[in-house]
Amino acid sequence: MNRLNSTYHQMIERNPNEQEFHQAVLEVLECLDPVAEQHPEWVRAGIFDRIVEPERQVIFRITWIDDQGRVQVNRGFRVQFNSAIGPYKGGLRLHPSVNLSVIKFLGFEQIFKNALTGLPIGGGKGGSDFNPRGKSDGEIMRFCQSFMTELYRHIGPDTDVPAGDIGTGAREIGYLYGQYKRLTNQHTGVLTGKGLTWGGSLARTEATGYGLCYFMEEALQAKNRSFNGSVVSISGSGNVALFALEKAAELGAKVVTLSDSDGYIYDPDGIDLDLAKQIKLVDRGRIRDYLEARPKAQYSDVIADIWTVPCDIALPCATQNEIDKTSAEKLVANGCTAIGEGANMPSTPEAVVVYLKNKLIYGPAKAANAGGVATSALEMSQNSMRYSWSFDEVDAKLKQIMIDIYKTVSQAAAAYGDPDNLMLGANIAGFEKVATAMYQQGVAY
Ligand code: NDP
Repeated sequence: MNRLNSTYHQMIERNPNEQEFHQAVLEVLECLDPVAEQHPEWVRAGIFDRIVEPERQVIFRITWIDDQGRVQVNRGFRVQFNSAIGPYKGGLRLHPSVNLSVIKFLGFEQIFKNALTGLPIGGGKGGSDFNPRGKSDGEIMRFCQSFMTELYRHIGPDTDVPAGDIGTGAREIGYLYGQYKRLTNQHTGVLTGKGLTWGGSLARTEATGYGLCYFMEEALQAKNRSFNGSVVSISGSGNVALFALEKAAELGAKVVTLSDSDGYIYDPDGIDLDLAKQIKLVDRGRIRDYLEARPKAQYSDVIADIWTVPCDIALPCATQNEIDKTSAEKLVANGCTAIGEGANMPSTPEAVVVYLKNKLIYGPAKAANAGGVATSALEMSQNSMRYSWSFDEVDAKLKQIMIDIYKTVSQAAAAYGDPDNLMLGANIAGFEKVATAMYQQGVAY
């Protein structure tokens, strides 16, 4: 990272104690040295220093009243990271671990992911340290309304279009949208992941998980392999995990694990998808409830042990840094030869070294999980046209986008001399698109 050392150190000094953000920036900058060499004009125009600094960061108080009548206070965030190629776009995460560092790592990743989709969307991310777990519907609604009461001033269909993420699903998007509409008297495409009768897109719910499998199938086929006949281990049991399971099974794989933040299940016969959907999407239960209907399955509350289950392909779909060096080594030792990241930054830098050293097929998050945001952009297009495409039309567009992303990142990796390194290809291809736009748009004096 010789040429970009000062960019990295300045970013650390300016953002002390933001570990997750530092990790995400380091991963990208480490891939960009040859780009800085090829483009001295980008260095002179300060593109590298500018891209690690968000255009705008908003932090605000969210006050709401719980079912006991007590006043609760949370913190809200929206980081508008980069608008060079389109309006800011990225989800809202509701989880007690949310802080500025987490939102900035997610927003930074989002810039390059969104660029890779080929669609005109910039990068942003937001959320709150609110914990949805155990809250009643009424509490969730009052929290979402209070969140939007501040957020609405900063977003808009041509400015910033938030979506879902951990803890923010269809129910939360509904409450947020209802409040936006009350405050502005406008029915516009200001959020994606909306309900199907009020502007949502068919296949948006499925898009991240399906897109992950489309991307990985392409990467596998390039090595004469396929999901068909493979054993797959998936972590998480939320939106991304469940629809990755659905598509992987449709492509002929046997998926044997799922997890939540309490533990994981292992079903050697293959996870019963309908049962898992009923538990997580309908009953809002815990993944261990699976054993009540399938007593032969196994449950463990040692979450990291999910990666000791033998598999051909691992799809981490829960959260950041869920696979460390030890887990990566166990995966490899037990026969895993491909990793597709459904979650954002689920692998520590040391785990990624293990993947690359052992020549695993490695689909990095910013390429492999871009299907969700790509379909959100398709929802924006449909809203602008006041028109809806069928499920099959959206799904076909999603599939083509994921195939194109695979081609783009593998070509960039080859052009920079390391054809199998899709992380290198994703970082370079995403960066080059945004850097070109920033350069063409000049520097503001
Ligand atoms: P959901 O809230 O629907 O599901 C998250 C799942 O991960 C749940 O099973 C949850 O368990 C588990 N989980 C969350 N935090 C932890 C933790 N600290 N340790 C262990 N398990 C945890 O979120 P999504 O499925 O939408 O998101 C999952 C990942 O995919 C995130 O990294 C997100 O940023 C990424 N992503 C999501 C996209 C989308 O379209 N939704 C798009 C691109 C990326 P529990 O129920 O116990 O909390």
